[in-house]
Amino acid sequence: MSSVPMLKLNDGNEIPQLGFGVYQVKPEETIEMVTKALEVGYRHIDTAEMYRNEQQVGDAIKASGLNRADVFITSKLNNGFHKPDDARQAFAETLRKLSVDYIDLFLIHWPLPTKYDGDFAATWRVLEEFKKDGRAKSIGVSNFQVDHLNRLVAETATIPAINQIELHPYFQNAVVAQHDCDHGIITEAWSPIAQGGVLEDQTINRIAQAHHKTAAQIVLRWHIQHGFVIFPKSATPARIEENFAIFDFTLDSSQMSAIDSLDKGEAGRTGPNPDVFDYVP
Ligand code: NAD
Repeated sequence: MSSVPMLKLNDGNEIPQLGFGVYQVKPEETIEMVTKALEVGYRHIDTAEMYRNEQQVGDAIKASGLNRADVFITSKLNNGFHKPDDARQAFAETLRKLSVDYIDLFLIHWPLPTKYDGDFAATWRVLEEFKKDGRAKSIGVSNFQVDHLNRLVAETATIPAINQIELHPYFQNAVVAQHDCDHGIITEAWSPIAQGGVLEDQTINRIAQAHHKTAAQIVLRWHIQHGFVIFPKSATPARIEENFAIFDFTLDSSQMSAIDSLDKGEAGRTGPNPDVFDYVP
C-alpha cells in the first residue's frame, strides 16, 4: 500500500522517510488523527513525552490491528528527566503509555547545554543502555548542534542514528544537516513546512502550479529529495491525505535549487535556539 521509501540508519535499522507528527495534536483528538494517518498508509508516528499524547498514540496503534513490527514509533525524553535515574524511569513510563515492549527510536528531545551541568553525555549513556537491552531499537538526539554532536562522538561509544532539528525552506540549518551527513547521522526535519509559514511563498507556489500540486506537497517533496525524514502534522483529515501524496512526481534540479535559494539563515528560525533553550517543565 505504501510507497514511502525506507532509509537505512547507521545501526542497520530502517526508518520510513515520511511519518505523522503529533505535536500540538490534542490528546482527545489524537486517537482519531493517528487512526486516520494509519488508514491513509502512514507507518511512522513521531510523538514525545512533552506532547502529552503518547497514551493515545499507543491506543490508536493497538486498535488499528496492525502488527507492532509494521509501525515505526518515535518518542523523546522530556527536559525534566536528563538525570540518569529520571531518564530510566521516564523511558519505562513512555513504553507503558505507548503499550509497547520496545520503541523503534528514542531521542533526547533537547540538549539543554545550560542545565544539568551541560552533561547531556551522561544522559546519552543511559539511552545506550536502552539500545543494549533491546527496548529501544535505535537511539538518537533532537536539536543537537555541531558541538553537542562532537561531544557525544568524543565522549561516548555510540554515534546517534538520528538528529531531529528544525529545518524547512526558510531555515535550512545547513551546517548541522551537513555535519549529520558527514557523520552518518540521518537528519529529521521538524516543522517541515514551518507550521504553514512557507506556504504563501511565490517561488513554491509557482512550482506547485507547474506540478498541479499544493505548496505543502512541493515543500514535503523537496525534503524527501534531499534525503531528510519528515513527519508533517495535521489535524485535518484531507491534509493528512494530501501530505502523503508526494511520491507521484519529482522536482527537477532547477526547482530544487529555487527552493534551496529561499534559505534565510538564522532569521528563518521559528523555534528556540538549542544553544540557549533551557525550558524544563
Ligand atoms: P509542520 O511544519 O508539520 O506544520 C504543521 C501545521 O501546518 C499544521 O498545524 C497545519 O496548520 C499546517 N498544515 C499541515 N499540513 C498542511 C497542508 N497540507 N496544507 C496547509 N497547511 C498544512 O509543523 P510541526 O507540527 O511543528 O512539525 C511536525 C512534527 O515535527 C511535529 O508534529 C513533531 O512530531 C515534530 N516536532 C519536533 C520538535 C522537536 O523539538 N524535536 C519541534 C517541533 C515539532
